[in-house]
Amino acid sequence: MAHRTDPDDADFDVVVIGAGYGGVTTAALCAHRGKRVALIDKTPRAGGKTQTLHRKGYRYEMFGAVGIPAVGSRFHELVDELGIGDRVELLVPEGEQAAVHYRPPEGGWRTLRSPLRQTGSEEELAGLRRVFGATDEDLARLGEFYLAMIAMSDEEITALDEVGAVDFVTPFGLSTGLTSQIYSTLNMLFVAPVDRLAASEAALVLRNMVLGGAGRFHRGGYGQVAEACAEFVEERGGRFLTGTRVQRILVEDGRAVGVETDKGVVRAAAVVSNAGVQPTVLRLVGGESFPAEYVEHVKGLEPSWAIAGVRYVFDARVFDAALIPIFSDQSWLDSDRFAAMEAGEWPDVPLIAVDVASEFDPGLVAEAGHQVANIQVFVSPDPDSDMGAEAVRRARVVVEELYPEIREHTIRTEPYGARQISRMTRDATMPGTGGEAVGLAQVVGQVGRGKPDPRTPLPGLYLVGCDAGGRGSGTHQAVDSGFHVADMVVDDLS
Ligand SMILES: Cc1cc2nc3c(=O)[nH]c(=O)nc-3n(C[C@H](O)[C@H](O)[C@H](O)COP(=O)(O)OP(=O)(O)OC[C@H]3O[C@@H](n4cnc5c(N)ncnc54)[C@H](O)[C@@H]3O)c2cc1C
Repeated sequence: MAHRTDPDDADFDVVVIGAGYGGVTTAALCAHRGKRVALIDKTPRAGGKTQTLHRKGYRYEMFGAVGIPAVGSRFHELVDELGIGDRVELLVPEGEQAAVHYRPPEGGWRTLRSPLRQTGSEEELAGLRRVFGATDEDLARLGEFYLAMIAMSDEEITALDEVGAVDFVTPFGLSTGLTSQIYSTLNMLFVAPVDRLAASEAALVLRNMVLGGAGRFHRGGYGQVAEACAEFVEERGGRFLTGTRVQRILVEDGRAVGVETDKGVVRAAAVVSNAGVQPTVLRLVGGESFPAEYVEHVKGLEPSWAIAGVRYVFDARVFDAALIPIFSDQSWLDSDRFAAMEAGEWPDVPLIAVDVASEFDPGLVAEAGHQVANIQVFVSPDPDSDMGAEAVRRARVVVEELYPEIREHTIRTEPYGARQISRMTRDATMPGTGGEAVGLAQVVGQVGRGKPDPRTPLPGLYLVGCDAGGRGSGTHQAVDSGFHVADMVVDDLS
């Protein structure tokens, strides 16, 4: 890498810090539109929080990886626009790939098996009656709830930016069991409290799930699309620098002009950061380059929660579904319930989401019949919190009750939590942050107009990923942001 200081002599048009889904989307789209791009990541491969690990013949996900919506997604648009459909295959499994385990108030377990794309068929409705005790009236109300969202225009959805999801859902008068199912799903989609989650984000994603299903996977691992985007950047004359940490964003004459890494300097006309708004503004640039009120606003932004869990490798098919949510009426989380958990008061069943990647793609395992899976619970984003270890312990007890064969078929376990998420992705910058599973919490005040603008007040510096510029759940939001930021950067450079 060059060590130059002449701002007119940029090495690249665009330097992107971070190859998470936000970063790779912007990098690849800018490269596709003729820009020379440097994409830099501190880890060995692209994918950020959804990197696919390659270990001892198995491929599995670093953290979680299920795409929502399954069809008609921003991922499909990205693959189409880049023309990389021959190297990545987006998978949508058929059949009953979801198994919901619900503990009713009287105890025991009831299980609902359903397809990843629900159709409202008689069979599905019968399942809701059996598992959640739903009456015909309850099902009619549930139907009204989903129909209301399907009928909403994008403007009507945006108008819900200032409404909390509980305030939006409550007037539909849903029964306790169906409410538990919806709130648990929202916790899993947004990793945030349902009372303060913005109803706009909730309605958008639930609508997309009804129309496009839940549970897209990418053959070879969820990170495959990110890896293909990074390759695409190099094929178009750019560079993908792995194992390279950006230490500082260079500012000259009031403008971002490049980055200093642990291996040298990369200069560019535009700097796009996927490293998170707080690490970017407060650490990589430094507050002195921004207006004081912007810095104060950035310091006060609230992270999503973290996810703690265990990655498993089994020598048998322990789970018989790809997606397995496990909950009771006590499991879904609003601000009060989460605070109680932080204070050590746990529900009978902590909210659990099991992803079984090899049910999506059996080619992930080294031997036929083996399985890779990930058990996940929802915890504090503070890398120093001990909440994750306790939540995982409790989750394992529940999952082993439902699937006792786990014990004899486990050949490897890898526990993780907020500290690992922070180490692998974003630096802890403000106290209690770093391990967020998504990015900024999509709560009222932090979505739509309240979300940081991808164009920062420092000319030449943009934010991309789940902190700015997108809507939706997890990786879908990151890719949505990547599209918007690529448009902005290309426009600004032309
Ligand atoms: C356990 C878990 C389960 C999840 N499950 C799902 C799921 O099933 N479906 C879903 O859609 N989403 C899921 N998510 C959320 C999803 O992973 C994130 O929302 C999304 O991946 C965030 O993308 P991003 O582009 O914002 O940034 P990130 O993925 O955080 O990427 C940021 C990148 O920047 C790099 N970086 C940071 N600082 C520097 C630096 N100084 N120098 C160089 N590189 C740097 C990091 O290494 C990283 O690669 C899950 C998350 C977790 C943790």
